[in-house]
Amino acid sequence: MPESSDVLAVLGDGLVDPVTPVARVDDAGLTRGDGCFEGCRVLVDSHGRGSVDKLDAHLARMSRSAAALDIAFDVDAWRRLVTDAVTAWAATGQGEAAMKLLLSRGPASTGAPTGLVWITALSADYSGLRRRGLTVVTLARGVGSDAFADSPWLLGSVKTLSYAINMAAQREAARRGADDAIFVSTDGMVLESPTGSVVWAAGRTLHTTPTGATGILAGTTQQLLFHRAPSAGWQVRETLATVDDLHEADVVWIISSVRGPVDVVELDGKTRQRQPDTDAEIRRLCGF
Ligand code: PLP
Repeated sequence: MPESSDVLAVLGDGLVDPVTPVARVDDAGLTRGDGCFEGCRVLVDSHGRGSVDKLDAHLARMSRSAAALDIAFDVDAWRRLVTDAVTAWAATGQGEAAMKLLLSRGPASTGAPTGLVWITALSADYSGLRRRGLTVVTLARGVGSDAFADSPWLLGSVKTLSYAINMAAQREAARRGADDAIFVSTDGMVLESPTGSVVWAAGRTLHTTPTGATGILAGTTQQLLFHRAPSAGWQVRETLATVDDLHEADVVWIISSVRGPVDVVELDGKTRQRQPDTDAEIRRLCGF
């Protein structure tokens, strides 16, 4: 249930009361998970002005996702809707927030896509997790590390609404007493986390899993980090790695837009030594 202090905007209608019903029962987003989304971080500065971290990168990825799904995406209309929603959020006097952009194919009977912007307060868990780090288990993803090569219909790297597997993996991680999961391919390669990219440091080199054939999402936060890190003396590399490689890395992070980079303090039951200076540097480079 959205909070009354949340902000909700509907493509075509603009701002609405946050408890307004916004989906019909024949909406393909509900009946088939047929659509795409973005999860973004909203910031409010000391003058009460709101902004969206990496908005251009999120709109570009959503545009690519919509194109892969053959759903219309008018980037200028979305940008206007986001601006209205963020302005309304800042006017509530609340601070850092999470924003979802949701686009579904819409009701079968109208064929008109459903588009929503929803801004809500940050999960209370995030500050604790950022402080104490993540315990993580690796889980089989059931696909090879090249399963998405030359198969665009598999929607590799498309941020679809179909996150049921990702959420099930997080529940399985919780059942095993961990905070989060890292997916591993059938050939033993590290893929991604259910809601974040995996980045690891070995010496002054940062590594992440390649996109493309692996089907993993191209993370906007990981890309920003890899864009900025070379000028801070890091090398950056896309590497297909095993879980043993992660165990041998100096630091492993799970990185995403709203939660930011969080270091892994335990992997498959093995405690990892924290490196506060390196962790602080990576947070800064990611804008956290
Ligand atoms: N991988 C998956 C599966 C995700 O859901 C996310 C988060 O949205 C990411 C990676 C990280 O992407 P970003 O940094 O753009 O939030």
